[in-house]
Amino acid sequence: MLIVMNETAGQAQIQKVMDLLKRRGLEGRRSTDLARTVIAVTGETGSLDPRELRAMDAVQEVVRISEPYRLAGRSFRPDGTEVDLGGGVSIGGKAIVLMAGPCAVEGPEQIERIAGAIARCGAWVLRGGAFKPRTSPYSFQGLGEEGLRLLRDAAGRHRLRVVSEVMDAGQVGLVSEYVDLLQVGTRNMQNFSLLKELGRCRLPVLLKRGLSATLEEWLLAAEYIMAGGNEKVVLCERGIRTFDNATRNTLDLAAVPALRKMSHLPVVVDPSHGTGQRDGVVPMARAAVAAGADGLLIEVHDAPEMALSDGAQSITPEQFSELVRQLRVIAPAVGRTVAG
Ligand code: PEP
Ligand code: MN
Repeated sequence: MLIVMNETAGQAQIQKVMDLLKRRGLEGRRSTDLARTVIAVTGETGSLDPRELRAMDAVQEVVRISEPYRLAGRSFRPDGTEVDLGGGVSIGGKAIVLMAGPCAVEGPEQIERIAGAIARCGAWVLRGGAFKPRTSPYSFQGLGEEGLRLLRDAAGRHRLRVVSEVMDAGQVGLVSEYVDLLQVGTRNMQNFSLLKELGRCRLPVLLKRGLSATLEEWLLAAEYIMAGGNEKVVLCERGIRTFDNATRNTLDLAAVPALRKMSHLPVVVDPSHGTGQRDGVVPMARAAVAAGADGLLIEVHDAPEMALSDGAQSITPEQFSELVRQLRVIAPAVGRTVAG
């Protein structure tokens, strides 16, 4: 249920509504934009009579929403949400945010070279896995905390923000010490204890789409984090499993405009895991921006054939540089900008 206050509603009137919800054992979550305040009621609202709410001062409208997600739904924040990563970077504004770097941090020189290269091209966020969710237990599992430290140091030298994956609830504290954006990988989209822990966290979360998740399941995963108190969620489309195996995954770019209608959360696209093929990354990155994505997450490696993970889908710094040049042409055509 959503309670829409009218434009003249003051603090006292809003508080009265919040108090009523509390007395009924429910929680109201406020969202205020330039025009008005919307209160989303979380919890079981069956016993709440909309007529009672409608009769209250400054209440304009009470809407029962049919979607199971409430805080992630578009009607909660009709104007959309910008998620602030600090350092002047936010996702969901006019500027498209480029996040790039290797699949995994492999060592100090590797991450330093790649950080320098992507920063020179105009990227704002350095990616790199330190805890890697590999399909095989025998594959490189990442450098752990040492990887996070290398990532943070390299990012600091090039004034970049940092995104890295957190694999389980027990790791959230540690990873939070080093990153600006906590990545939840596709395999963990429905790891509910992880999502609940992230709900208690102050850092923004990059929530990747589950390997075979519907948009509704994905938004409900976002709802877990938001219901826990952390409303800073960015969605990342990274391809899904389909019958076709010509590409590693099927990048669902139609999800971008669909999510735009369903949710106010920013949406970014990962064309690297979405295609699994170096040659597919640049065309799909261009298409993602044309489709309205708020940012891109791209694997870049300066020696992809030597990479310890995902070399086949990593583009070189030169290819990344050329991509950014092309995005500077595409973005303005859809009302956006690219930094640098
Ligand atoms: C990654 O970003 O390196 C990664 C493991 O992504 P995903 O969870 O989408 O496979
Ligand atoms: Mn990867």
